[in-house]
Amino acid sequence: MEDTLIDDVPTKIITQIYNEDKSLIKKLKFKILSPEEVIYSSVCKIYKDNLFESKGIPIPNGLFDQRMGVLENEQGPCWTCGEKIINCMGHFGHIEFVKPIYNNIYMNQIVNILKCICLKCSRLRIDKNSMKFKKLKKIKNPKRRFKELLELSKESKVCYYRNTENPEKSEGCYYTLPASIKLVEHSKIIIEYDEKSEKVKNISAEKVLFIFKKIDVKDLKYLGCNENNKPEWMIWKYYPVLPPCDRPSNMANPTTRGEDFLTMKYIDIIRQNNIIEKVLNSEYVERTIDPPSTKSTKRKKKEYTRNELPILIEMLQYQVMAFSDYSSLPPAVAQRLYKKNPKCIKQRLIRKDGRLRGNLMGKRVNYTGRTVITPDANIKIDEVGIPEKIAKITTVTENVYDINLQDLKKRIIRGPYKIGGANSVELKNGEEIDLRMDKDGSLLHKVAMSLKPGMKVKRHLKMEILYIIIDNQPYINFL
Ligand SMILES: [Zn+2]
Ligand SMILES: [Zn+2]
Repeated sequence: MEDTLIDDVPTKIITQIYNEDKSLIKKLKFKILSPEEVIYSSVCKIYKDNLFESKGIPIPNGLFDQRMGVLENEQGPCWTCGEKIINCMGHFGHIEFVKPIYNNIYMNQIVNILKCICLKCSRLRIDKNSMKFKKLKKIKNPKRRFKELLELSKESKVCYYRNTENPEKSEGCYYTLPASIKLVEHSKIIIEYDEKSEKVKNISAEKVLFIFKKIDVKDLKYLGCNENNKPEWMIWKYYPVLPPCDRPSNMANPTTRGEDFLTMKYIDIIRQNNIIEKVLNSEYVERTIDPPSTKSTKRKKKEYTRNELPILIEMLQYQVMAFSDYSSLPPAVAQRLYKKNPKCIKQRLIRKDGRLRGNLMGKRVNYTGRTVITPDANIKIDEVGIPEKIAKITTVTENVYDINLQDLKKRIIRGPYKIGGANSVELKNGEEIDLRMDKDGSLLHKVAMSLKPGMKVKRHLKMEILYIIIDNQPYINFL
């Protein structure tokens, strides 16, 4: 049985196909998106927070800029690729942050890297001439190596490593290293020094970016990074903007349109970014906010000063976090930003109805079923019992030869509803006759009489040796 299978498709041909077909994916690598890549894949810079002009035309450099693709047929072809909606996949845009913002999915990695380097000169916190470092070099598993480095870095108190043999080659900048670096509320990094100095301070993303950029390329390897995944890329300077087709408007009727949650979040991010830009460029900026009570029609004005800049940047950080994963926000902020059940990026991917398990993974198809299988006192020890209902669904396609012609005729006459029957017959020209369409039994006889070698019959399972794929359920997947 197995031999014939291999004869059908010679192995040589298989290897040839695999070598010649360049479209086959051999490897898949995940990497950190670099600022250059964001800019390279972007077709326009987005900095306007309103979407449409009066006549419903998208505003250039707004979130529906037609260079990113169009949403309605009336708008004409896409400005970038010239294709109609159905063929245009959409093109990314980008937002340029005035101040760097942490990419919140890498917060733990950022903190761990900070724990391994000097905050002043970005040198590794380890004596490179020591035996410990030589041992560390030999560890091949990057995860284990980084873990080991993290342990060793705890021992250093001051960034100075004396070379006893050659004092001139001693390394370090004499900077007192902080006693602890902590992550607070998923977005803030707090640095604590020894009790003597009692300094506790909040380190900004801008400062971390400055530190990361100075890291020696040779040291990247020990920090679990490399030239294609630099630590400074874990901080956003340019933020990618999804094309409009990934966040389509909800058109209830032609006059009112509801915007997608992601579009609304982009608007918040752009507004916050613009406020910060204005504050940086002038002493203060005025922003109108709605009055708390309906009695006074006057709008109150709120002023921001430069002193409030850290708070404004923190708010932008929260907006960026809300876009990808609102559950990482501090509860008080989350309550203020949302009403209920926001569809952020994470919410769209996870769970059973998410993009991965709901849209990309396996689907139920014809001729498959889900059931219990069982041993039984009445069947042999090496046999498996399957319920009748399933035996009637999971059919076996049998080619008609002279030798099995009579048997298959009987099965066709037995019909699709009794066990031991057949569900359909495939003619020589590929046409299929569904026996379940038969009303009075005349079709069954007609088909059975005309059955000839060369046709195919989809019959129910019988007592036989079969190769079936049995899949051990249940799985519990948490994606
Ligand atoms: Zn296009
Ligand atoms: Zn140093």
